[in-house]
Amino acid sequence: MSLRRVRYYGDPVLKSRAKEITEFDASLADLAADMRETMKAYNGVGLAANQIGVLQRILVVDVPQQDAPRATYTLVNPVIVFREGQEKGEEGCLSIPGVWDDVVRAKRIHVRAVDETGKPVEVEAEGYLARAIQHEVDHLDGVLFVDRLSLLKRQFLRRDLEAIARGELPEDQQPPKEASGG
Ligand code: ZN
Repeated sequence: MSLRRVRYYGDPVLKSRAKEITEFDASLADLAADMRETMKAYNGVGLAANQIGVLQRILVVDVPQQDAPRATYTLVNPVIVFREGQEKGEEGCLSIPGVWDDVVRAKRIHVRAVDETGKPVEVEAEGYLARAIQHEVDHLDGVLFVDRLSLLKRQFLRRDLEAIARGELPEDQQPPKEASGG
């Protein structure tokens, strides 16, 4: 396993659509393990492959839940087959450090995917887990949470976003030291 370097706002890979995965081999298992390790090292609750520069449809989530163990999933080729309700909630993104804002998402979703071995996975999610999965599936389609904000809010965030694109990260948002290329 190795830590991968997280790509930041301004990197074209974050605006690209990831491709369906067709090979369930050892390199996919390695990618999934690296993504889980990287998510943990960056203290994230989710990570999509685009964020480490890999245009393949795989995401990982690890979300704390009330009165239940953390919800941990590795989802390959995920499809949201059902959405219900709407809910506004705050989101951030490992690729846009220091920026947080409210985003409207479906309240409940049903996701159909497979895991890194090709085994089917069905997830019924609501609340924070549903939000995290929708955020990560957006990444696979080349969409960032700031793309879902109003024009006014995006204008308000423009300076921060441009600074990140220039590689100027906020002091308290530096990547983990051991993170290297990927
Ligand atoms: Zn994100």
